[in-house]
Amino acid sequence: MPEWYQEKPLGEYENIYVVAATEKVQPKRTAAGGGITALLCYLIDNNMIDGAATSARDVEGLGGRIVVARTREEIIRTAGNEWQVLPFTNKLMETIENEDLKKVAVVGLPCQIHFIRQMKTFPLVESNFGNRVQFLISLFCYGTFAHESILNYIKEKHGMDISSIKEIKVSQKSVKFMGEKTLEIPFGELSKYIHMGCLMCPDYTGAFSDISAGNIGGKTIMIVRNKISEEILREAEGSGYISTSKCDEETIKKIEERAVEKIKRASEYIPRLL
Ligand code: SF4
Repeated sequence: MPEWYQEKPLGEYENIYVVAATEKVQPKRTAAGGGITALLCYLIDNNMIDGAATSARDVEGLGGRIVVARTREEIIRTAGNEWQVLPFTNKLMETIENEDLKKVAVVGLPCQIHFIRQMKTFPLVESNFGNRVQFLISLFCYGTFAHESILNYIKEKHGMDISSIKEIKVSQKSVKFMGEKTLEIPFGELSKYIHMGCLMCPDYTGAFSDISAGNIGGKTIMIVRNKISEEILREAEGSGYISTSKCDEETIKKIEERAVEKIKRASEYIPRLL
């Protein structure tokens, strides 16, 4: 485990903000103030990107696909689709090439963002994929689950109609399935279904992103990691897309605690599983 994870559980950053969408952008279904959606709308409206790529849940089942939004309307439509983990990078490369995108913002999980950052820093000779990715937004992530097994479990054990599930929220303490009813199950009860790689993953916020974003207490918290991202945020605010305020110390402490918790889990599992 690199030492800096212990010293800086959130990685390097410039500032941490609470970010909300203004009336200029009205995301229909985001749980957390719509900050990411509004920022992507600003980037696309101002031709700073020609597409935003994220993963979305299939209408049936819990499989996923890459979604590229090219307009403000499409971005707003895909809002809230961010929880999936997919064989992301292959699909993403394919999609970017097929759609001939030249400057993309990618919204992904910390492991995905880490991989894309590596592709940007050490590009493969035969691909210019990294150059086409302009902006990396990482979502906070505590882990993802083996879909089929977990769905069978909640169907058998809790009688949930899995075809009705519209949204799944994963927090450190519990997993909430929202469908015909809302079923909240303690994280510990489901931990055996978590992907093994996640148990060894120490990165909660996505230290290799330009901006990390997560929902804490119903608000979008953004960790801004470099000066360019800071400028973009200021411009987006100046243009009326978002409002920002400095994140309070208590919330930052909460995020740090979650990050440390994840680092500890990884430290425990890495020697056990490797
Ligand atoms: S816990 Fe880590 S490996 Fe698992 S999905 Fe999240 S970022 Fe990826």
